[in-house]
Amino acid sequence: MPRPHNTLLASAGTTIFTVMSALAAEHDAINLGQGFPDGDGPPDVIDVAAAALRDGRNQYAPRDGVPELRRAVADANRRWYGLDIDPAHVLITGGATEGITACLMALLDPGDECVLFEPLFDIYLPIIQLIGAVPKIVRLHPPDWRLDIAALEAAITPRTKAILVNSPMNPTGAVLTREEVAALARICVAHDLYAICDEVYEHLTDAETPHIPLMTMPGMHERTLRVGSAGKTFSVTGWKIGYVSTTAALFTTVGKAHQNLIFSIAPNLQRAIAHGLQKDDAYFVGMRDALAAKRARIATGLAACGFGVLPSRGSYFVVGDIAPLGLGMDDVTAARVLTQEARVATIPCSSFYQGADPPRTLLRFAVAKRDEVLDEAIARLHAWVAARGGA
Ligand code: PMP
Repeated sequence: MPRPHNTLLASAGTTIFTVMSALAAEHDAINLGQGFPDGDGPPDVIDVAAAALRDGRNQYAPRDGVPELRRAVADANRRWYGLDIDPAHVLITGGATEGITACLMALLDPGDECVLFEPLFDIYLPIIQLIGAVPKIVRLHPPDWRLDIAALEAAITPRTKAILVNSPMNPTGAVLTREEVAALARICVAHDLYAICDEVYEHLTDAETPHIPLMTMPGMHERTLRVGSAGKTFSVTGWKIGYVSTTAALFTTVGKAHQNLIFSIAPNLQRAIAHGLQKDDAYFVGMRDALAAKRARIATGLAACGFGVLPSRGSYFVVGDIAPLGLGMDDVTAARVLTQEARVATIPCSSFYQGADPPRTLLRFAVAKRDEVLDEAIARLHAWVAARGGA
């Protein structure tokens, strides 16, 4: 008998994203499961990356990132949110994924508690568990996914060291309101908590729903690690460039975690993102409005098919509710059947829950696809529902 591997990793199943993508490929389905754009990033950003490959700087970048990108991230913090971050306290990471991992490693000892909210983006829980820390999960409820302050307060104990907050949120598309962000800040200050803020969709909200970083709230600057992702902001998810903005004391420890995880990130891609972050407002507004239009397009289409549609104010995602369709199946079965029969793949939202009794009728639709792809997906769903005697 071979000796056992790490218990947590060995017992983990294949992720739902891989399962649904494989099923989508098998049935030639439109894949609205995994959340990535089907176009390329801005041509000028790609051109800078291509040119940077040819100028002889292809060896290890500095551990913390190339100076021009650290400066560009600091400038972007000031430009969009009035945050005063020293470029020396910006860390460039292997996507937000490595950034969040480094933040959790930097803060948590075994036994420390970290509060998170479900539905959950899938990487948070295993990372916290691998560190030996203890996740304390607070549930948000459909359709609005508003913060339950009483439930949050109830989850905090003397062992709670940090909260991990994702807004705009995957999978729900919810965006924390100013009141919610202020309430979170009061709670962090009152209980002396650190905040790890996963803000990868910061530029992808509706025009009338501004993203408000928790770090901008009174008392939060020195206790917050704010994580962004160039993959989302520039539609280049394959580049895996992320950034952590923080203050001196936290930076020192996060830098050490990063040093042990990956050490440094592709220099040429970093320089292209430095260029991208300096693009004029028209780029960012254009991205924001294009994604908002896609969310609206899918929402309208799903409603016309007879789905319930939950409000989404940001991110790549819209959640549809199969309950009004009366299919008599749960979300996992519906996601499989829709992939096989309607040839549209989605992600069942129950897979974003850890606790008992998750909602069982919600599907996540990824909308960052070309309009004709979204329209074809809706046409297929419409035909499938109609064939069953529905809308
Ligand atoms: N956080 C959230 C909420 C996400 O949706 C994603 C990507 N799906 C990430 C983090 C990871 O970002 P990156 O690709 O930059 O590692």
